[in-house]
Amino acid sequence: MTNARKSREKHRMEEREIIERRMEEEELKYMRENFQVYSCSGTQQHEPNCDRECKIVQLEGIDRDIAEELGKWDEAGMVAVGGVPGLPIPGIPINTFDLDVKIVALINYLVENFAISKEELDKCYAEEKLLRLRSIREANEDALREARAKAHLGIQEPPKPNLILPTGTKLQ
Ligand SMILES: [Zn+2]
Repeated sequence: MTNARKSREKHRMEEREIIERRMEEEELKYMRENFQVYSCSGTQQHEPNCDRECKIVQLEGIDRDIAEELGKWDEAGMVAVGGVPGLPIPGIPINTFDLDVKIVALINYLVENFAISKEELDKCYAEEKLLRLRSIREANEDALREARAKAHLGIQEPPKPNLILPTGTKLQ
């Protein structure tokens, strides 16, 4: 292939990339304006493992209202989805905001639709918390006490908090 031909090929590829990018931007704009999302993610971006062939879903009702509200956040220069940047933690991604919203919504639903009071739910929460704290301590205290005693005698380094949860998973 001659250099001139190579350069023409390169130019053509760059042009195609620009056109594709512009088409993607147009599609994104159209989806935003019409409250549409990809079914893989529920947002206007595909999930990383999506083959980009998934369905486009029309948001309706409260989902549309939420999307509209998020659009207003965007316009105001506000960021609705926070994160913990720079922490190299592998595992299942969690969204504490959504979790918090779900729990409060669940409490509201229970209080409104069943004969359950907020106080009863608070008591339930306190009992569950106490149970978990107790079981984590009981699963770990012997090993930690032993490690501390060894450290005191100079046999080994002081223990690092590396708790074993009752299920066997480790809490760093
Ligand atoms: Zn997708």
